[in-house]
Amino acid sequence: MELYIAGGCAEHGRNCFLVKGGRTSFFVDAGLMKDPFRNPYPRLTGEQIGGAGYLFLTHCHADHTGALPFLFKHGFRGKIITTRFTSECLRLKNENLVLIDRLSQPGESVSLGGGLSVLWGRSGHCMGSIWLLVSFMDKKLLFTGDYTEHSQVYKVDKIRGMRADVAVIDCAYGHTGRNGDYNLEAFRNEVADMKTEKRPMLFPVPAHGRGFDVIRELLNQEIPVYADKSLISELMDTKDRGTWLRKRFIRKLRGSVLYTLDRYPVLLPFVKSSRSEEKHRNAAERESESRYFTEELEPGRKINGAMPGRKNGKGAAGILIRDSQLFRFSSRASALELYGEGGITILTGKQLPDSYAKTLLDSELAVFRRLSVHQNADELLLLREKNEFKTIVPFHCGSSLTFDKKNIQVMHPGEILRL
Ligand SMILES: [Zn+2]
Ligand SMILES: [Zn+2]
Repeated sequence: MELYIAGGCAEHGRNCFLVKGGRTSFFVDAGLMKDPFRNPYPRLTGEQIGGAGYLFLTHCHADHTGALPFLFKHGFRGKIITTRFTSECLRLKNENLVLIDRLSQPGESVSLGGGLSVLWGRSGHCMGSIWLLVSFMDKKLLFTGDYTEHSQVYKVDKIRGMRADVAVIDCAYGHTGRNGDYNLEAFRNEVADMKTEKRPMLFPVPAHGRGFDVIRELLNQEIPVYADKSLISELMDTKDRGTWLRKRFIRKLRGSVLYTLDRYPVLLPFVKSSRSEEKHRNAAERESESRYFTEELEPGRKINGAMPGRKNGKGAAGILIRDSQLFRFSSRASALELYGEGGITILTGKQLPDSYAKTLLDSELAVFRRLSVHQNADELLLLREKNEFKTIVPFHCGSSLTFDKKNIQVMHPGEILRL
């Protein structure tokens, strides 16, 4: 049996692994490289793609799923195994779709045919994100997907006491990244300082992921939250919420008011949001969900605290937009407008080299306070300690990563590990 690295090791993006054994082969993830200076697609031949019987998707992010059209184009006709949330995000309508969270519970093994069985758990990274332990031809292979044990929002089934012949483990933050607790503390302090100074904060966040962590911290510090409609809709969607979100966070949401942000780049008009108390929501309200989110509230009124510390009762505000790299013109305008009003942009994730987020940071109009959605090298070593892995392959990490070599193998795209 062999594990082929099609992408995602010694680089960030295009995560894609191919396991081949006997007459069957399967993929784990099919991601796209976001860095504009690199080849965006996984390193694969038509033969490798067409011959694969299965594709597991750990979660919806583009660096794990963006190459799906590429796979279809080159002849992939196998089964796709993922969670309901991920499949809906990607609008997957494939007749070969297998919803793993409908088939089994976390920690429960399920057979998929072809000599393949799988056990999954929640990876703490975003809605619908999972790790996978695949049993295949007497071997066990663990893929953590994007994994963190530090989210205060997403549930995680910690990987403990597990045996695997190979474990492909998230190590996106490498040796230099601080651990999750440290990052969270630094983020909290930044937000608390801004609150004291009554300054508005702009948080550019991805579509699915750490935006909810930001919302939680703001609510905990009693700072009004304004967020893109899509973020609020995802938060209010109760379908799978209990599966992926921690109880304490859901309880917090129920007692909170979130404001839906509308019509960027004009920072000023807002629409009334949602009091997210389930008990107040009857069937009719659910029906008119769109109306629920678009009821006008004093259009043209400034955000409370948008100008720092002038009037009584004005305070800080947290504004979340779904554009983590600030690629949209409207997002850029908003960041500048906010700066002009005494506010600051707070980046919580990695900036791409050609992004406006990076430009803002370099110009000191933004600060970077990471919220961990991945692991650093120490956290990878902790997983090594708490489990029995014959070989560990770090992924999602930069090219310069080195380890003590004991059982950690740093690999590169195009390389093969024989099992
Ligand atoms: Zn991800
Ligand atoms: Zn990723």
